[in-house]
Formats: sequence, structure tokens, C-alpha cells
Amino acid sequence: KVKQNGRNDALLYSESWSNYSFEHLSLQHEMYRAIQRKEFILYYQPQYDMISGGMIGVEALVRWKHPIRGMIPPGDFIPLAEESGMIVQIGDWVLEEACRQNKCWQESGLPPMPVSVNLSIRQFVQHDLASKVADVLTRTGLDSQYLDLEITESMTMDVNHVSRCLLDLTALGVGISIDDFGTGYSSFHYLKNFPIDRLKIDRSFVRDIQQDPSDAEIVAAIIAMAHNLNIQVIAEGVETQEQIEFLRKHNCDEMQGYFWSAPVPSDNIEQMLGGYYM
Ligand code: C2E
Ligand code: MG
Ligand code: MG
Ligand code: MG
Repeated sequence: KVKQNGRNDALLYSESWSNYSFEHLSLQHEMYRAIQRKEFILYYQPQYDMISGGMIGVEALVRWKHPIRGMIPPGDFIPLAEESGMIVQIGDWVLEEACRQNKCWQESGLPPMPVSVNLSIRQFVQHDLASKVADVLTRTGLDSQYLDLEITESMTMDVNHVSRCLLDLTALGVGISIDDFGTGYSSFHYLKNFPIDRLKIDRSFVRDIQQDPSDAEIVAAIIAMAHNLNIQVIAEGVETQEQIEFLRKHNCDEMQGYFWSAPVPSDNIEQMLGGYYM
């Protein structure tokens, strides 16, 4: 039984995936074929410099263009893909596609900028993550300075192993960002032990900057601390002018959010970079 309540929430009713519902099993099964059938697609969300307002990068965000269920957002299948291990294959595809697209933009004469790719913690379990990334860069011809990898904090990770992987990746010249900063398990441990270029303040803090004085304090403190550690800061989920003003006042470096653009297909990014929209 497939409920379809509209746009993106076809799957939201099945809170009980842990019960191995029909929905769960059927999606797992379909995910195996989705890569070959080219049902995954990347959207890109622009990132902006806080001072100049110029676009300085894009984040690649995967969607599943399901032939029957329609566009499935990552929140509805990434957890399932992580559980089944399929995230490794999906992640490989995302990495290669994002690098290919970025190289393609550069070759068509658009101003070069990094693409950020989200990595699942499951992708670190592979011992050869760094050599895999190196292979993708070679295959696509993308220079490593134009790739940024986003990792989220997780309780299940082996800190020593991840730390070694990140050092290998840094040696390649790719950037490392911590995603959803502040919501996870051991943020400070990360900052101290991992080679981090940038942290992304989780949008739950940004959302209430105006209403909640403690969120405002936390955001200001994160920015100050990161800068003392030589780490750049990008704010996620920026939706209002007031948030921008606050972030600018506290010297946040970069920003990303619906205020400028939701994630959009690659064509739209081309138009933005080409100046048609700006
Ligand atoms: P994330 O990496 O933190 O990505 C940011 C999410 O916030 C995106 O949701 C984006 O559409 C949304 N967002 C951006 N600006 C705003 C805003 O101003 N307001 C609000 N309310 N939301 C905003 P999306 O695309 O649904 O992705 C959700 C999550 O799925 C991502 O969170 C990321 O953790 C995961 N994900 C997406 N693509 C991939 C992927 O290729 N691999 C892996 N492992 N995870 C992915
Ligand atoms: Mg991200
Ligand atoms: Mg680095
Ligand atoms: Mg995030």
C-alpha cells in the first residue's frame, strides 16, 4: 500500500521503517536498481561570501526521481540507504557526478568554485576513501581545490580511523567541512583532532537568532571560537535579512539558505553563474 499525499511526503507516514514494513523493503529493493536506471539527480544550493555577496561555492544535494513516487527528498531515503549499506554506492555516484558537473561548468568558462559533497559516515568505513576520491578527481579532471567534503558528527565513528582518513584527504588538497555543527555528539573533539577547514552552523541555531537570545549567543560564540582555531564559518538555513545582519555583525564568513536560493538543478546554477539571474 503506497500512500501518496502529494509532493514530497509520500513516505513520511511510515515512521515505522524499523518494523521492516512493506514500504521499507520495497524501497530498499528499488534503491538497488535506481543507480543503473539513473533515477538519482543532484540539485545544487549556492553559497555566498558574507561581505561581497558573491557566490563562492555550491553544495550538491541528492534527490531520487522515482518513476512512480515522484521526487523523494534525501531525508526520506538516505537513512534507509545508510542502514542497508547502499549509501556507499549512492555516495560514490554523488561524488563522481558532482565533480564531473563542476569540471563541466569550469570548461564552459564559468567562474571556478568548489562543490561541496556530503559524506555519510558509512563511507569512511571503506579503507580506501582517500584513494577513491583521488581516482574520481583524476577521472573527472577536477582540481582538488574545487572539491569540499562535508562530514557530520556521529557517535558511531572510530575517531582515529576518521582522523587518518581526513589527513589523507587533506593531503590531496580537498577541503573538509563539518556539517550541522552544534547538533552532534562531540563537536569540540572534532575541532581539536581533525583537520577542518570550515564549519557549518546548523540551521536550527540560525533559525531563532532573532527570537532566542541563547541561540544568538551560541552562534556568536561558535564563530569566534572557529576563527581562533583558524576555521572558516558558514551559516546554514539563512532565510531573513535580519539573520544576515546578525551574522555579518559577528563576522561569519559565508552563508547559504533560502534567502537567496533553495537547491536548484544544474541548469539554474549555470544561469546564475553566467550572470543571467544576478
Ligand atoms: P545538509 O547537508 O545539512 O543540507 C542542507 C539541507 O537544508 C538541504 O536539505 C537544504 O535544502 C536545506 N536548506 C537549505 N537552506 C535552507 C533554508 O534556508 N531553510 C530550510 N528550512 N532548509 C534549508 P535536503 O536537500 O533535503 O537535504 C537534507 C539532508 O540530506 C542534508 O542535510 C544531508 O545531510 C543529506 N544529504 C543530501 N544529499 C546527500 C548526499 O549526497 N549524501 C549524503 N550522505 N547525505 C546527503
Ligand atoms: Mg551538507
Ligand atoms: Mg584542508
Ligand atoms: Mg547541514
